[in-house]
Amino acid sequence: MATPQPAHAGAILPFPARPPAPPLLLSPPHLAGGELDRVRETMEAGWLAPAGPTPAAFEDALATTTGMQSVLATASGTAALHLGYRVLGVAPGDEVWAPAMTFVASVAPAVQMGAIPRFLDVVETGWTMDPGLLAEELSKAARRGRLPRVVVPVDLYGQCCDLDAIVAACDRWGVPVMCDSAAAMGATQRGGRHAGRGARLAAYSFNGNKIVTAGGGGALAGDDAALLARARQLAGQAKEAWPHYEHETTGYTYGLSSVLAAVGLAQLSALPARVARRRDVFARYVAGLADLPGTGFIAEPAWGRANRWLTVLLIDPAPFGADREVVRRVLQAAGIESRPAWKPLHLQPAFRDAPQAGGATAAALFERGLCLPSGTGMSDADQARVIDLIRSCARN
Ligand SMILES: *Cc1c(COP(=O)(O)O)cnc(C)c1O
Repeated sequence: MATPQPAHAGAILPFPARPPAPPLLLSPPHLAGGELDRVRETMEAGWLAPAGPTPAAFEDALATTTGMQSVLATASGTAALHLGYRVLGVAPGDEVWAPAMTFVASVAPAVQMGAIPRFLDVVETGWTMDPGLLAEELSKAARRGRLPRVVVPVDLYGQCCDLDAIVAACDRWGVPVMCDSAAAMGATQRGGRHAGRGARLAAYSFNGNKIVTAGGGGALAGDDAALLARARQLAGQAKEAWPHYEHETTGYTYGLSSVLAAVGLAQLSALPARVARRRDVFARYVAGLADLPGTGFIAEPAWGRANRWLTVLLIDPAPFGADREVVRRVLQAAGIESRPAWKPLHLQPAFRDAPQAGGATAAALFERGLCLPSGTGMSDADQARVIDLIRSCARN
């Protein structure tokens, strides 16, 4: 005899019998383990706001990690870049030069300040700003009598740009360099120097998708204490040192809260392990895919050891047998997130009138580049699934 069932039994079940597998994301946050203890410690001591010992301890830890003498913790990497543009004196009509291949945040604050971006092409090896092209363009700009206010190279996908060569080219004309090292925590340059070291200023990000995260946050760093002190003042609404509210200029609310700084501190202690794991993820993709015709990866140039924040697969459609969009859709149908490489800024509608120098290399990388799931919490089995699905798209 069948067990009687209430008529609505099926209708009120809150979940399907087997919940779908969670999606495999590109670069989700990965807890280090000490976050809750740090947050509890900070809050029990009465700290929440962007002040007190925890943001200061985060800044000290970042100074140690990066080798920079002065560090300001900020609410985001974009806020750090904005403060950098402010203290470097960017004004309406000034040019700021950036690589064509980057995320919009590299230049967005400067554009919002009325600056004109100029986009320079990148080198094939490493995908970062071409120092030779930069030197040529600076000479031309000097002849025009219109040097950029600041040059902003980018450590793309955690691969350091050739900062020594870029700084040398800019020093010739007295142009300051602010390195967008937002995605490059833990990456190093020649001689083991941390990403961004050697630039007048460097900006870092602790967004949720970066190699270590505060849940959201950033930092501006450099060796010029006065410049960083100025940025700190602007980050706190540009209050002058008076008991009343006195302002010689206007600023921002750009400090990093104590709670998020506590998360960032715990995460930072895992950075060396995270770099090793991201590099391992990259090596597994290379081992699993490099034999397929028409595939390629970002080569690691002599000047920098990447943190391999995201693995980007290059797909040449003719030999491979499918383009990157076909592969993206196959992965998406299996609940796996992947994304085309940054669309170059000289091709963005927002910058259709911006001057440029070259751009063909960046455009080709965009046509062929697909960012693969690269999180340090991804299991080997999940990564093997991604590799198998990509292999299934190839001609064979
Ligand atoms: C993440 C990122 C930023 C922005 O950092 P936020 O903390 O998200 O504001 C800027 N530039 C590059 C290259 C990035 O990868």
